[in-house]
Amino acid sequence: MSVSNSLCPSGASWLIPFVIPSEVEESLDPMPDERKTLEERTQMTDLERLRHSASHVLATAILKIWPEAQFAAGPPVENGFYYDVDLPHRISPDDFEKIEAEMKNEIKANHPFEKIEVSRDEALELGKLGRLAGLGERAEPSKYKLDIIENIPADEKISLYRNGDFIDLCAGPHVMRTGNIGAFKLTTVASAYYKGDEKNPQLQRVYGTAFKTKKELDNYFAMLEEAKKRDHRKLGRELELFVFDDDVGPGLPMFLPRGAVIAEELEKLAKETEFAAGYQRVRTPHIARESLYKKSGHLPYYAESMFPPMELAGDVESLNRDPLHRGASDSTIHDSRITTKYYLKAMNCPHHHKLFASVPRSYRDLPLRLAEYGTCYRYEKSGELFGLMRVRSLQMNDAHLYMTPEQFEAEFNAVNEMYLNYFKLFGIDKYLMRFSTHDPAKLGQKFVDEPELWKKTEEMTRNVLKNSGINYVEVPNEAAFYGPKIDVQAWSVIGREFSIATNQVDFAQPRNFDLRYKDRDNVDKIPICIHRAPLGTHERFIGFLIEHYAGNFPLWLSPEQVRILTIGDEPKLMDYARSILNELRAHQVRAEIDDSTDKINGKIQRAEQMKVHSMFVIGKRDMEANAVSVRVHGKGNLGAKPRAEAIAEILLSIKERRP
Ligand SMILES: [Zn+2]
Ligand SMILES: [Zn+2]
Repeated sequence: MSVSNSLCPSGASWLIPFVIPSEVEESLDPMPDERKTLEERTQMTDLERLRHSASHVLATAILKIWPEAQFAAGPPVENGFYYDVDLPHRISPDDFEKIEAEMKNEIKANHPFEKIEVSRDEALELGKLGRLAGLGERAEPSKYKLDIIENIPADEKISLYRNGDFIDLCAGPHVMRTGNIGAFKLTTVASAYYKGDEKNPQLQRVYGTAFKTKKELDNYFAMLEEAKKRDHRKLGRELELFVFDDDVGPGLPMFLPRGAVIAEELEKLAKETEFAAGYQRVRTPHIARESLYKKSGHLPYYAESMFPPMELAGDVESLNRDPLHRGASDSTIHDSRITTKYYLKAMNCPHHHKLFASVPRSYRDLPLRLAEYGTCYRYEKSGELFGLMRVRSLQMNDAHLYMTPEQFEAEFNAVNEMYLNYFKLFGIDKYLMRFSTHDPAKLGQKFVDEPELWKKTEEMTRNVLKNSGINYVEVPNEAAFYGPKIDVQAWSVIGREFSIATNQVDFAQPRNFDLRYKDRDNVDKIPICIHRAPLGTHERFIGFLIEHYAGNFPLWLSPEQVRILTIGDEPKLMDYARSILNELRAHQVRAEIDDSTDKINGKIQRAEQMKVHSMFVIGKRDMEANAVSVRVHGKGNLGAKPRAEAIAEILLSIKERRP
């Protein structure tokens, strides 16, 4: 099970690095690496067709330069296409010009893409002759294509596509002729294992992109440039927000003081918002015994996403004295040594369920909303780690809401409102909710066997979404095992997709944990649980915000809110500057003073580089008038203001969390 299918809000499905805003619709159905069914293929968008056709042209060009090249898969992907190549020569960007020139020839020749249907035997025969993804017969068989043919279902027709001399095994579809590929460019080359399996040979994955027009291609690269400038990894270093360290370990970010400020401001926001919405805060440890995760169902199914267990010796004896722990199933005897397995927690729910169960509950206690900015640890493969977006330690804006079925609609609605309010605050206006529902035919296998609960909760959820006018799509057959869920996808201003954690309904875990409340009729009942994490994890959300704001945070989020810059260093002037600093700090404003002997222009430049939000520039004249000259990053000089007014404006903007 992959992390993105986790049993809890994870915000882990970082699928697509870049999405052009105009393609938002198309991006909803990203092409996976696996072979698509015929039906899915015919649903390819025009742009995907064009890009997939470009991958054939890419292979044609590579073969003209390196006739020994072998090819595996060449699908369209989110922002272009790739082809996996097996070739002794290491392709580098230095080769792109040469390859692109051959591609241009092929496009200029305007060859039609011809479909040729063949029998399985004919396809195998051509593969043995090295003819698939080839320009002609070769000594070496087309080993990857032969393997792909073996995996084509027996009832599926096999087709080849020809453009010029090039023939490839392919189900299509393509554009009519190579000349229909408007504008293209090769972008990168990476390595990829055949079928994504580390046991298979390593191939070279050559990426490119293609558009209908040159203008669209240019716009795309202009946006990539902007995205590069905003890359959270780059800005994170430049603005001293967070670091990684080899001795600490990959995927384990550490926040520097300037980054920690952002995390704390987000927590403050979450705490205030959740308090007002009737949540209560809890705190739980970072580890737990294996038995907890067996109960929750995370073990064994989720084991590969968890860090391996720690075995603790001699622990059980003391525990066995405690009748509550007697006979725990996670303790074993090795060589007369008793050990117990502990896991780093990968999700907070099991701990929260235990807190729910720790005291008898009645309907009067519900809804019960337990919140925690909980730190979790997930074992992501090192190849999948990516800046703050995919990490191994994550602090989650988590909460679990326990309620009666009657309370479900109102609670679910309130959670959605909270999402929307956050989006407004951060100026996230491109977002989409994916409402994943179950498939009644798969009850008891893919979905917990509770037909009535599924029907009821899905209906209620659908109503909430409809009535609130939220932008959503319904995706059948993609619910979590234990209930319908809503994933929120947002796009930053540069079009980077960001999958905020899910909002999930759960009617399985409360049962696994034997959670109960006494209802009005004095009967014990099982509550419904909602998992939610609107701000996702600190790591991913901060990564997103860095790019969203290009590091120019609004005042309330700014690591350094005000820097005081003096013109000169006369003692009286410095005293005045320090008195302003003290006043600001007394109001909890993150203020600093630049008391270096640099000229004022140097001081301003340094503050601008660090994207300090506001600068109070103070000269002799300002001091005499009890004033400051205000400068705002990105806006320039706003002129002199009375000291009290300038400070009051800062305080108000912070208090109101102005954009
Ligand atoms: Zn094709
Ligand atoms: Zn949860």
